[in-house]
Amino acid sequence: MALSVITMSPEETRIVSAALAPTLLPGDVISLAGDLGAGKTVFVQGLAAALGVEERITSPTFTLIHEYEGRFPVVHVDVYRLDSIQEVLDLGFEELLDPSAVLLVEWGEAVMPLLPRRYLEVSIRRSPDVEMDDERVISFHPRGPEWGHKLDAMRMTAEALLNAMSDPDTLLPRFVDAPNPQARDDSDPGTET
Ligand code: ADP
Ligand code: MG
Repeated sequence: MALSVITMSPEETRIVSAALAPTLLPGDVISLAGDLGAGKTVFVQGLAAALGVEERITSPTFTLIHEYEGRFPVVHVDVYRLDSIQEVLDLGFEELLDPSAVLLVEWGEAVMPLLPRRYLEVSIRRSPDVEMDDERVISFHPRGPEWGHKLDAMRMTAEALLNAMSDPDTLLPRFVDAPNPQARDDSDPGTET
């Protein structure tokens, strides 16, 4: 079952990703898809801070790999600009699948075949409404049953926090059980892997 949430600001995206942090264990892998400027690095910032990383998290776009010390090691990789599996392998990607660390990979198609069987796929898109410059749709696709449970816990926390921050007169449902709210009608959650 996929899950989506709408955020209205970078702070809200950090709240959502921070709510996922308490569920994470060493060895967990999260892939982050989305165009440049979608908010992948912002998502990592909230997550890493909630994992106890005190350093400022910056984009590893040019350095490709950043490693942080939090509750456990946090490895942040950006393979956005790489477009072949060979380039990703040259980076030592397989060594990055460290069972003692949480691995956060800003995406490239190139990396997909190298991901473990179980991981969380996150994809972030700008709002289709051009007026809503700071609105993002964050979709979660659990690959493996444990990720479904982690998402349930994340949703409870994030929903409560987002509601608490919002104007009670204009409260909107933020979470939707679908890969993205626009595609709700043609999605089939029953076959989600
Ligand atoms: P990416 O890593 O996907 O290329 P970044 O996280 O580096 O993107 O940048 C996202 C940009 O979008 C930042 O400048 C951030 O302030 C802005 N932004 C605006 N609204 C949001 C939102 N709701 N969630 C995340 N980022 C947002
Ligand atoms: Mg980035």
